Amino acid sequence: MDLNTLYRTVIMDNYKNPKNKGLLKSDKYHFVHLNNPSCGDDMNIELFVEDGIIKEIHHDGKGCSICCSSASVMSDVLTGKSIEDAKRLIVDFYSLVIGNEPLYEEELGEAIAYMGVKDFPARIKCATLSWKAIEQGISEVTKNDQK
Ligand code: ZN
Repeated sequence: MDLNTLYRTVIMDNYKNPKNKGLLKSDKYHFVHLNNPSCGDDMNIELFVEDGIIKEIHHDGKGCSICCSSASVMSDVLTGKSIEDAKRLIVDFYSLVIGNEPLYEEELGEAIAYMGVKDFPARIKCATLSWKAIEQGISEVTKNDQK
């Protein structure tokens, strides 16, 4: 199996069998909605942070395979991470989708499958939509903590 086939397999697996999909719609969760008009992707994220650790991420969205699979991978990679680690990995993900070598390849796990997106600039927003949503959620949650 070559690398591109492996990447496609990760994307299709997560599209067909998404992890952490479905919203629980409880007050426990911080909710973020973002969309990507250029492709029609629409993403909802629920986030629960406790003691500086991301305990749960749920997602539910409509959109292309890149967007929906990326939300599944994002939720899997970032659940259990500290806020600090999550922010570092989000930045590294933004960097890898535009063609840079990831700094934290091991921690990014399946997310490195999106390296191929650099060849399709129109799809970069699809890959990063759920990551932007979680980034916004983290920033809103940590703001609330400081009050
Ligand atoms: Zn898309």
